[in-house]
This record gives sequence, C-alpha cells and structure tokens, in this order.
Amino acid sequence: MAARAAVLRSREAPFRIEDVTLAGPGPGEALIQVAGTGFCHTDLLPRTDRLGIALPLIAGHEGAGTVLATGPGVHDVSPGSHVVMSFDSCGGCRACLAARPAGCATFFPRNLSGHRPDGTGAARDAAGGEVSASWFGQSSFATHAVVPVRALVPVPATLPLDLLGPLGCGFQTGAGAIFNSLGVRAGSSVVVAGAGAVGLAAVMAARAVGATAVIAVDIVPLRRKLAEELGATHALDGRSDTLTQEILEITGGADHAVDTTGLPALITSLVRGLHSEGSCGLVGVQQGDLTVDPLLLASGRTLKGIIEGDAVPRLFVPRLIDLWQQGMFPFDRLIRRYPLDEIDRAEQDVASGEVVKAVLIPS
Ligand SMILES: [Zn+2]
Ligand SMILES: [Zn+2]
Repeated sequence: MAARAAVLRSREAPFRIEDVTLAGPGPGEALIQVAGTGFCHTDLLPRTDRLGIALPLIAGHEGAGTVLATGPGVHDVSPGSHVVMSFDSCGGCRACLAARPAGCATFFPRNLSGHRPDGTGAARDAAGGEVSASWFGQSSFATHAVVPVRALVPVPATLPLDLLGPLGCGFQTGAGAIFNSLGVRAGSSVVVAGAGAVGLAAVMAARAVGATAVIAVDIVPLRRKLAEELGATHALDGRSDTLTQEILEITGGADHAVDTTGLPALITSLVRGLHSEGSCGLVGVQQGDLTVDPLLLASGRTLKGIIEGDAVPRLFVPRLIDLWQQGMFPFDRLIRRYPLDEIDRAEQDVASGEVVKAVLIPS
C-alpha cells in the first residue's frame, strides 16, 4: 500500500514528509485510512536517547480513521468501520488476561520500539530502505497505517472522526488515572500537576466523577486559567515554594494526586500534600530519581506508576465519548488541527505549550 508519512530520520532534524510503502495487513491486522492523529509528548521520545529507539521511524500513536481492508482472521471490524487506534498488547500474558493490557509483558517492545515484537513491521521508503512503522502498533503520522485489530476501538460513524484519536492515548491516560488507577470518588479531593492534555483530561474526569476539590498545578498562568474553565476549583503555581502548604490548606490533606510532569521535586511536594492514606499516581516520563521520606509511606500513602490510565481501550474510549456527548468531558476544546504537512509547526506549538493538543490531518 502506497502512503505518505512524516518520517523522523535524525534526532535533531525536522520530520520529512515522504512516500512510503506499507506491507500487509497481515493476520489479525487492519489497514486504516487515517482521518486524524494527535501529537503526544511521547511522540518526541524518539528524539531523545532515553530508550534507544531506532530511526528512521514513523511516529504517531493517537490516530483515528476508517478501515480499508482486513487481514486473515479479523472478524470484529470490516471495511468502512470507523475506529480509534489505541496502544497494542498481546492478549495472552498474565496482565492482559486480567484485563490490564497496559501492564502487558510486551508493552514496551510492542509500543515503544517502532516495530513488532518479532522485529518486523517496517515500511519501505522510496529508495527501498526500511522505516519503522509499528510505533504503538500504528505509526499514524501518515495517510495510512497497518494496525493490530486488538488495538482498535470501533466508534459510531456519526462522530467527527478526525478529532477522536487522542481519546486512545493522552485523554485516556488522564481520565483513566482518575477513574481506574486511583478510583477517585464523589466528594474527594484531587491535585493534578501539569495542565497539558493528560493533566487537563484528569481535571475534567475528576469533576465528572464528582470530586469536590480539584486543584490544578502549572507554571503557566494561561494553563491554570484553562484548567479552571474545565472544572478545576483551584489553580496553583507549580513554582511556589509553599505548594504543599497551599494544598494542605485547601484540602486538609488531599485524597489523590496525579503527576504528569515527571519532576521529582514537584512529586515530593504532591506526596507531602496527601492525607495519611492518600494516593499519588505518576503518569509523566520521570525526569530523575525520586526522593520520598519513607515515613510518609509508612502511614499508608501510596505512590503508583500509571500507564495508559490502566484502561481497556475498547471499554474505556466509548465511556469517554458518552461523557463528552453529555458535556462532561469537553476534550475537543483542547484540540487544534494542522495539516500533516505542517507537522513541524505542530511539534513547535506542542513543545512551546502554545497548543494543548495538536491533531494532524493527512490530506
Ligand atoms: Zn500481554
Ligand atoms: Zn501518547
């Protein structure tokens, strides 16, 4: 299948729009015509040396689109189906069997290597060279993607398909942290650090579930204002030296905190702001070793790493769509559309914080 894709060939240079050839779909896979793909901070990981991700690579893992063809053994979607593409998992390991696919034993090779666990999953460029095309099982910064059907979430054809992709990763992660990972309940207090796409999804979800104190923490005044518009009851400056005291004054000790920044000093402030049995979820890519006084944990506080909001995408994304349609999860307010060709401008605007969630539209 001939496709156009944004190819990352060096950690420093801009993405390049290229003609590529995709193989497949193979057994258990579908070929998707991409309607739109969110730009997630995780798509910038291949620009760093942190995971040693091999280039060239087609990134993109918050896609939505239309099924064009299916491989052997596919029964749950068919050509014409509208789908959100979420993360990949094996379906057979201990975590997958327990309905915890984000804890899949092969999560990292399937989603963060750029190829399938067996090393296949490459597209060909115009010169015949290999380009990794299985980032999160989808590599959807492209007109087309070949995706394991297990990662697909069928959605009604009446919805604006191009906007729905981020529900499969960033928004799922923030909302899932609240609903699934931390089990936030009505009347509780929640602190959310970092008012980006994941953090703002957590703020909206906390309000939707009935949390009565929702404190957004960010260093950017505009982001704090946006968080308040989306339901935060308080907004605090992340640079404040007295952040923990401010949280304690508002909540008397927060029931829950969600960190999306990965900043160790900030996370320590959040843990200190919890009540004695409060829980803190870590969603961000960690920026260094964390120091926490063991006495804080001895009394019952919990620290928990969270991947993909502990969600089962095929159950969770439809829930988010229902909440959105009832006005309780207005994620579309955070989105700005860009043509795929303008991916570099989208990348700059995401990196600078100018836009919360860029969605790339292949034309
Ligand atoms: Zn698994
Ligand atoms: Zn993501």
